[in-house]
Amino acid sequence: RLYNQVQDLKGSIRVYCRVRPFLPGQPNRLSTVCHIDDGNIKITTPSKYGKEGRKSFTFNKVFGPSATQAPSFFFVLRVICAEEVFSDTEPLIRSVLDGYNVCIFAYGQTGSGKTYTMSGPSDLAQENLGVNYRALSDLFLISEQRKSIISYDVSVQMIEIYNEQVRDLLVTDGSNRRYPLFWLFDFISVFSFASVDIVFCLTVHVQGRDLTSGTVLRGCMHLVDLAGSERVDKSEVVGDRLKEAQHINKSLSALGDVIASLAQKNSHVPYRNSKLTQLLQDSLGGQAKTLMFVHISPEIDAIGETISTLKFAERVS
Ligand code: ADP
Ligand code: MG
Repeated sequence: RLYNQVQDLKGSIRVYCRVRPFLPGQPNRLSTVCHIDDGNIKITTPSKYGKEGRKSFTFNKVFGPSATQAPSFFFVLRVICAEEVFSDTEPLIRSVLDGYNVCIFAYGQTGSGKTYTMSGPSDLAQENLGVNYRALSDLFLISEQRKSIISYDVSVQMIEIYNEQVRDLLVTDGSNRRYPLFWLFDFISVFSFASVDIVFCLTVHVQGRDLTSGTVLRGCMHLVDLAGSERVDKSEVVGDRLKEAQHINKSLSALGDVIASLAQKNSHVPYRNSKLTQLLQDSLGGQAKTLMFVHISPEIDAIGETISTLKFAERVS
């Protein structure tokens, strides 16, 4: 395999934890006491919020509230900010063009920063664009650089899953169409900031043909902004909201089960338990490279969700 430069993530699941900063206009809010040290995050729970104690979680990386997501052309910043959030995504994207399947997804409670990581801030400040935009522009840039050796065909799908219904947001006739990049930018911003709690998935299919040998390689990438992971108190919601919450819990726990059984190298992986895991099947396990960003909110009121998010993430890493 001539063009295969990145091997390290193959077949593995990496988990990065990211702590959102306080938002402007949130003065005097109490912060969760968390101590970040390399890949460790230590959370201290005061007795007022349940059992007092300290709990340590270990991930491949932990990003604190000041971690940046500046794009690669700010190379100076990139060197200075050693903990820059996307320093490992560019090689992943490159490996899609080498014929690997890749899955990057964002997990966390509503408001913890999933969409910020995947798409960027809602005002789309250029210097803070998320993984979706960077992935698409990196794909086009790298395929352009390689065009004298490999000819690439790239097609994109945008999918939402809501109440176990899968909907393709770009096409209605079932075809797999290719869209110009500048169009896609608008599409992503429209769909990814949708207020309904859905799973939003950007899927890129790449087919490359080596111009000398004629060898064909195929790669695929799923970029997934998951629905909010908060545990809904079933006594408080009814009707459609309850149905929605049950479906969300079902697909997130199915995802957790799949990743956990991959991590444990079980022979049976329960992909068929939800639409989400069926959709991602070719990008989870096997030779695929998976990266999960788990997000936590800094506010002390969120401590319960923070702990359950970290427990979920620890189970799959
Ligand atoms: P989620 O998608 O998990 O519900 P969002 O990504 O919408 O959460 O984030 C909630 C709010 O916090 C948004 O206003 C977003 O711009 C802001 N935000 C999230 N993460 C960051 C960050 N790392 N730096 C600055 N603002 C952030
Ligand atoms: Mg969101």
